[in-house]
Amino acid sequence: MQKRFGDHVVLDDLNFAVRKGDRVTLIGPSGSGKTTILRLVMTLEEANEGYILIDGQPLTHVERDGKRVAVKEKDRTATRKRIGMVFQQFNLFPNMTVIENIIEGPVHVLGVPKADAKRRAHELLEKVGLPEKANAHPSQLSGGQQQRIAIARALAMDPEILLLDEVTSALDPEVVGEVLGILRTIAEETDVTMLIVTHEMQFARDVSNRVLMFDGGRIVEEGEPDQLFSNPIEQRTKDFLAAVL
Ligand code: ADP
Repeated sequence: MQKRFGDHVVLDDLNFAVRKGDRVTLIGPSGSGKTTILRLVMTLEEANEGYILIDGQPLTHVERDGKRVAVKEKDRTATRKRIGMVFQQFNLFPNMTVIENIIEGPVHVLGVPKADAKRRAHELLEKVGLPEKANAHPSQLSGGQQQRIAIARALAMDPEILLLDEVTSALDPEVVGEVLGILRTIAEETDVTMLIVTHEMQFARDVSNRVLMFDGGRIVEEGEPDQLFSNPIEQRTKDFLAAVL
């Protein structure tokens, strides 16, 4: 697969598969293409060459009779519903309350009855430790609290795949632990497939079963976390880890 922005090739010759239930962490220097991969899977970007398949279903394009063809909008939407994303900057809807943020997708995208969506939203608020914030607006919450709501909102869609894009990078250091703690619990209690971009190497080590090291839009090394963090093979991985650990 290849992704370019103008003439700038940001991902090149990329080919990897993620199994159901995998927790894959993408590490590597800034600008190496990690976030772009999550945005491609979320269909916020489209590959220029090659294809992304979710459970065998082409995400945005498919090859037919040797030609690159866009998939139908309804198929794209159907596949897209199976994927949830949490962003560095939370991206909550500022004009909606917490509970409205959480039920928006289930009610309007999945067609869940409002009462059922609300019941589930309250359960999720318990799970992220903010049951009393249902009627607050995002601006009344701290960054850590907003991110916990963003996690609840993503989970409300019951995604099979959860994309986590540097979800603690915008947080004050003292609340990073509580957000990572919630994600650890989700990883333990569910079989959701996770693609994680993070600078929290200890979290990557604890939660993931596979780590991909990127540099210059390519995978330079991959392995199980214990092996890759303790015994990296490639010099670029060694240099990167030496700089961040
Ligand atoms: P990482 O997440 O590893 O820091 P990114 O995926 O954010 O890397 O970025 C990879 C490269 O793509 C960078 O050089 C970045 O400047 C470029 N890039 C990302 N998004 C865009 C965009 N929308 N337009 C142009 N260039 C972009």
